[in-house]
Order: sequence, then structure tokens, then C-alpha cells
Amino acid sequence: MRHSKTAVQEIGVIRKDWRGRIRVALVYPNRYAVGMSNLGFQTVYALLNDIDAVLCERAFLPENDTDEIRTIETKSRLSGFDMIAFSVSFEQDYLNILSILEKAGIPLRSCERDESHPMVIAGGVACFSNPEPISAFTDCILIGEAEAMPLPYFFDLFAQYQDNRIKCLEIMAQEISGVYVPAFAPHQVRRAYLNDISQHSTNTVVLSKDTAFDNSFLIEVSRGCPHGCRFCSAGYIYRPPRFRTAAHIIESMDIGDSMTDRIGLVGAAVSDLPNIGMLCDYATEKHIRLSFSSFRADALLPELIGVLNSSRVKTATIAPEAGSERMRKVINKGITEAHILSGTEILVSNNIPNLKLYFMIGLPTETDEDILEIVSLCKKIKAQFLTASRVKGHIGEITVSINSFVPKPFTPFQWAAMDDAGILKKKISMIRSGLKGVANLKIQADDPKHAIIQALLSRGNRNTADMLVQAHRNNGNWAKTLKEFSLNPESYPNNELSYDDTLPWEFIDHGIDKSFLIREYERAKAGKSSPPCSMKFDSCKLCGVCG
Ligand code: SF4
Repeated sequence: MRHSKTAVQEIGVIRKDWRGRIRVALVYPNRYAVGMSNLGFQTVYALLNDIDAVLCERAFLPENDTDEIRTIETKSRLSGFDMIAFSVSFEQDYLNILSILEKAGIPLRSCERDESHPMVIAGGVACFSNPEPISAFTDCILIGEAEAMPLPYFFDLFAQYQDNRIKCLEIMAQEISGVYVPAFAPHQVRRAYLNDISQHSTNTVVLSKDTAFDNSFLIEVSRGCPHGCRFCSAGYIYRPPRFRTAAHIIESMDIGDSMTDRIGLVGAAVSDLPNIGMLCDYATEKHIRLSFSSFRADALLPELIGVLNSSRVKTATIAPEAGSERMRKVINKGITEAHILSGTEILVSNNIPNLKLYFMIGLPTETDEDILEIVSLCKKIKAQFLTASRVKGHIGEITVSINSFVPKPFTPFQWAAMDDAGILKKKISMIRSGLKGVANLKIQADDPKHAIIQALLSRGNRNTADMLVQAHRNNGNWAKTLKEFSLNPESYPNNELSYDDTLPWEFIDHGIDKSFLIREYERAKAGKSSPPCSMKFDSCKLCGVCG
């Protein structure tokens, strides 16, 4: 590992001689701190630089709108690179892709570009959920997990056909599974998928202080999630769920330990990790300050609590998502009120004074009673919190975070209608007034209008590209843009889609049977929960991914 001083302090920057190599600018369409906190982005940086024929540098959305966009490593302009690769995790960043291309002096649409421009490619979780809204701006999209793609071959083809882009893309699409070229007639694209994640490490490559995790070395311990919450993409597009072996994680912890005393274990449900107790003991023994991206209220092992304690964690997150037991069955959350209350007691009595509670509103079948039950659950949590805090002689703070439900592709709720902004606002007000005057409790609520735009983009199709261009011209003013498109911002996402519709993202083959998703949505509407993924990969055929 080398130490380099750029605008920010970084450890692990990869430097290679650019001569004779394909120069790739790997771009995260958001600020440095957000991009560098993303393990997918960091992994692709390492994967590309592992290819001898490739030199990859990083770039981010500039801190100031007027700043030029240049790479971190050599401060080069993007227009001088052979390829620009966007790593896209969130639909909210789509507009930033357009700003970055424009800042770099590169025509926005792929049909306006030729061999004199860098090839523009994209990948990342937003792309393998539904890439259609950004398809017009990209020459090719990589669908699936980067470690499973034959990237050296991809770049061989690029080098071989550099003077004939169409031919190059044609061969890539024909020969490489997971390559999607929007300019060609859409065909079924099978996602690239890594069978055994322990074959590869997905860890921090460049350690930086200026990230959300402040000098933490992050280790991806699992991919996907067995619980199958019906609103959550991670539980479906990464199926089957996979866990790294303890030996592999310990190896990564040792690397992290040589760089920093802070290690973060990342995964959709870290507490499901087999041997998590042993990993916690290992961290304690080595005086590592361990943190977790998530854990479930029903899986608070003593070792986990012990490590949170010795890592001096001051705030823990519990995600009941819904207030009523009925609603938690609808969303298939799989935790009960008893789990939530005992989780609160365990955390507070173990010196973690502050709690953050995540709730969603606008979920399918939700009624006003369900909203009132959010209020009543928060009050019960508060009572439990107070009892445990009094014993400790210190009262912390509860933060209630309220987010609007957004239907996501490849989930059982992909067909569901959203509430319109007015109804969502009313529901937020109900929670605010129900919890008014409750001491040491604050509420953070998202703006429902943003959630509606997010839904518009996450369920968008190719026409969404025109809207994105217009929103870009309007400096991100969506209200104006939607008016110009004579699209009622509150009407489109609040349409329930039909099972007979061909959905824009259905050309991607994630292996999940549509009939399974329909069955799950119907069970949700009937208030029935389903068991988590059995993880019996050899015999189970329930969702269609295995076997
Ligand atoms: S087929 Fe069964 S084991 Fe495989 S991902 Fe689906 S539910 Fe899990």
C-alpha cells in the first residue's frame, strides 16, 4: 500500500504508468465522501487496476458546481480518457450523470457520440435493478456483479475494436453475459453473478478520513439477505443470499487492522452471519473497534452487544419499518413488537444511549390505524427506553426516521401504487402530532415529493431519459419539469401496475420467477407473511433462482 497526499488524505491509492494502457475514469455520480463510502465503487477501482492493460482513476461530482471535474489521481480531464465508467447506486444520482458528462464536454446521448469520445459505460446496483432511464446516455451497461464478469476480455475487445465502436459493442453484447447495449434491440440479459463470494475480497481499497465512515476499513461480509422484506431490492436481486467464510473475514480484518483500528462489517443483515459471535470475540481480542451496517432486533447476541460496547458505539438503529403487527406481516419483516422492545432494553442497558428507529409510510394496504400504531409503538419503545435508561442514570435520545415507501423493480411490491404526496404528508403530520411533547424524541421525515421522483426513476422506461434531460436543463427543478411533460407528479407513481404489463426492467434475467413475486404480493395483500429463504440451494426451487 502506498501513501499519497491528494486534496484529501488517502492510503492505498493505486498508481500505474498510463502509457500503453486503456485509461478508464471510474466516476461516482455524487460527492467524494459518498462515493468513497461505497464498497462497490472501491471494488471496481481495484478490479480494473488489477488488469494489466488498464489504468483506472477515480472522479466524483465536484464539491462546488462551478469546479471542473478532474480525476483524483492525476487531476486529468475526463474527456482525455478512453472510457468513462459510472458506478451508479441510487436513482437520485441520475441527474448528476448528466451534469458530469456536460462538465466534461461530452455529448449526453450515446447516439451523439462517436469513436472520438470516451466510451461511456455504467454499472452498479441501480443498473441491475432497472437501467432503462439512463440507457440513452450510456454506450453499454454491465448488469450484475463485477467480480463475476470477464473484465480482461471486455477490455481486450475494447482495445481490438477501438476504431469501430458499433462492432465493438456488438461483439461485447454477443459474447459477454451481463453486457447490455441499449442501442441494439433489447434482448434478455442474464445478470452476472458470483457463486462463491469468498473467492474475492470486497474490502476498502483506499482508506480516507473524508467518508461517512471516517477512516473505517469496510469489509463486505454478505451479499443479499434471506429475509425477503417485500419492499427491499437487496432481498431479491442478490438472490441467493451468500455469506463470506469466517476465515476469509478474519483475513480481511487483519488487513484492516494493519491500516486502522476501526473496522466496519457491511451486509444487508450482518447479524445473520454464521460465526458472528466468534468474529466479535476476535475483534475484542485484537482491540479493533468494530461496527455493523445493520443488525436485526431479533438477533442481538451478547458478543455483538459486547463489541458495540467496547467500540464505544453511542447510537444503534432498529428498523421496525411498520407500527402494527399486521403491517409487519404485509411487508414480511419477520420481527415482532416483543423483539423490538426487548432489543431496546438490551441496547440501552448495555450503554448504547441513543436509538434510531426506521419507519416507512405509504406501504400497500396501509390504513390510518397502521399509522397510529407507529405512534403507539414509539411510545412503548420510549417507555422501555426510559426504564432501562433510569437504571443507567442517563437518558439518551430517540430519533424516529420516517421514509415514504417507493416501489422497487424485482420486489413483490414492484406493481404497488404509491400514496400521493398529499396523503403522505398527512400521514407524517399524524405521526408528528401523535408524538408531540414526547421528551427526548425527535422526528426526521423525508420529503414525499422526493420519494415520488425516486419512484418515477426507479420504475422508469426509456422515455424517462427525455425527462431527465429536461430536469437537467431546469437545474433539477422537477416540479417545472413534470409540468412541461404534462405529467402529474402525483399521478404516475400512484398507479398500480398490472401483472399483464411488460415491465421496463423485465429484460433482465435475475433468475427470479415472476409468478413467485406475484404470489408474494398476493400474500402481502392477504396479510400473510412468508418464511425467509431456506438457503437450501441444492433442493429449494421456491423463488426460481436456484436449481
Ligand atoms: S430458490 Fe430457495 S434457496 Fe434459492 S434463493 Fe430462492 S428461496 Fe432461497
